[in-house]
Amino acid sequence: MSRAQLELHIDFTRCDGRGLCTEILPELLVRDDWGYPVGRGGRDIHVPDGLAGAAQDAVDLCPLQALMLRRVTRS
Ligand code: SF4
Repeated sequence: MSRAQLELHIDFTRCDGRGLCTEILPELLVRDDWGYPVGRGGRDIHVPDGLAGAAQDAVDLCPLQALMLRRVTRS
């Protein structure tokens, strides 16, 4: 059975690593040694339903439009 899942994507060609998104979404993001956001669970950042609003806030507030939410379907 396939299921649509929300994922957060970080465009590192835009991100300046100041970390605002890690303050908005500490449940999903941490800063690496250089200050850039990385997913707590690894490269794919799955957004649970309960954090969809906060994830959208992070997208909206990113000063460099480096974040994107997308629905992916996995089987
Ligand atoms: S808020 Fe945007 S620019 Fe700032 S660290 Fe997060 S992704 Fe990068």
